[in-house]
Amino acid sequence: MKSRTFFHSLLSFYHRVSIFKKFLLAPFLGLLLVVPIFFFLLLTTKEIQDEVNYINKKTFPLYALTRDNVMLLEKISHNINSAVAAKEELWLEDSLTHAQLMQKNMQEYRHTPFEKAGEELATYFDSYFEHVLELSKNIIDSDGYYDGIEQDTKLSMNDYMKLDLALKSLQKSIKEKIQRDIGSLDTNTNLLLIKGAFLFIFWFISTIIVTLLVYRDIRKRISQIVDASEKIAHGDVDFKDRLDLPMKDELGQIVSSINIFISKLDQDHQELLQTKKELQLLYVRDKLTGLHNRVKIDEVLEDEINRFKRYNIAFSIIIVDIDYFKKINDSYRHLVGDEILKGFARKLQDNIRATDFIARWGGEEFLIVSSQTDEEEAFNLAEKLRQKIENCSFEELTLSASFGVASYETSQTQNQLLHNADLALYKAKETGRNRVVCFKSL
Ligand code: GH3
Ligand code: MG
Ligand code: MG
Repeated sequence: MKSRTFFHSLLSFYHRVSIFKKFLLAPFLGLLLVVPIFFFLLLTTKEIQDEVNYINKKTFPLYALTRDNVMLLEKISHNINSAVAAKEELWLEDSLTHAQLMQKNMQEYRHTPFEKAGEELATYFDSYFEHVLELSKNIIDSDGYYDGIEQDTKLSMNDYMKLDLALKSLQKSIKEKIQRDIGSLDTNTNLLLIKGAFLFIFWFISTIIVTLLVYRDIRKRISQIVDASEKIAHGDVDFKDRLDLPMKDELGQIVSSINIFISKLDQDHQELLQTKKELQLLYVRDKLTGLHNRVKIDEVLEDEINRFKRYNIAFSIIIVDIDYFKKINDSYRHLVGDEILKGFARKLQDNIRATDFIARWGGEEFLIVSSQTDEEEAFNLAEKLRQKIENCSFEELTLSASFGVASYETSQTQNQLLHNADLALYKAKETGRNRVVCFKSL
């Protein structure tokens, strides 16, 4: 959960910073990875330094000390030999001084890897020095020979051999340790170099990887922007779609500009659609009565004719003309005439079926297209309408209207059908008005 939040905040940081800073992330992240390893290497360097110090301050002096001890032992032996040869017990004092120095030296092996060997050496030395001193004193006192001289000489010789051997072996051990330590120093230094080189390669590779990732991400987003721009350029943009790139860098600003542009296009597009709708309505509607106009009549008649040709479904048309409408206009002014036209249109519309079509044919004339209706049925409909009108008042005035009915016949054109209905209407006018005449009855 915590790592997810960390990842999210890292991602939102990435989205926020500028492209330049995004590219800087590469070396910086690489450095973050490298710094802990660098400190580890620093620690290793310190260990090597400590090892060098140890060799310099401890192991080398120990080696020199052991060599001194070898020389001191030789001096002690020489002093004792000289004292015995000269029969001068006083001369033994020099060897005492050297022996004290040697005993002091042997304390130096304490708290080193050679502590045990040092203790052994001290025991051998004490035993040797005690025996050899006693032997030499006995020889000097006895003037050259006493009982047990062979035994004591043998004991001293034996001690000397042991001591000499132990000293040389210790000297050899210290030398070997120095060689071993220097060898391991060499290996550690080489390892440090290899780790350093690895560290550099690691930093270099991680920098390249992060740079490539940033580049890939930016390239992907640019191509998304280019795609969206091309879509807009070719006009096939979905106005409801917006570019969804959660970025706040320079590309994010371009994306938000494109989105604003799409919103503006969307708004313009909606307005255009609305205007188109209104224009279409205006194009097919009659402004005064709200009925369809002649443009729509053409469309409807064409559809009906096609349906007749394909399925042989009959249909009829009725042309309605208000009788003596000119007189109404003349007597009650044009505005009253308009109101009467509106009421008349409403009356017709209210009394036809929903499947029938009505339009203003022109002036005070209307046209009804009645689907699936033969001439007789159309006559009945017209007669029903005629009676309704006759029995209604429009703006407190009574009216009558004449009706011309015609049914569509095979191979007729639209104009022929309209002409037939017109002829029937003309007949209705001619024969006294307020009547319905069918074309077939002419
Ligand atoms: P008829 O019985 O022979 O049809 O006589 P009529 O007077 O109705 O016929 P005519 O063709 O002589 O006159 C039609 C009148 O309809 C003339 C015109 O002033 C009127 N008219 C046409 N369109 C409109 C309109 O939109 N509003 C008004 N108020 N009158 C209109
Ligand atoms: Mg007329
Ligand atoms: Mg008329």
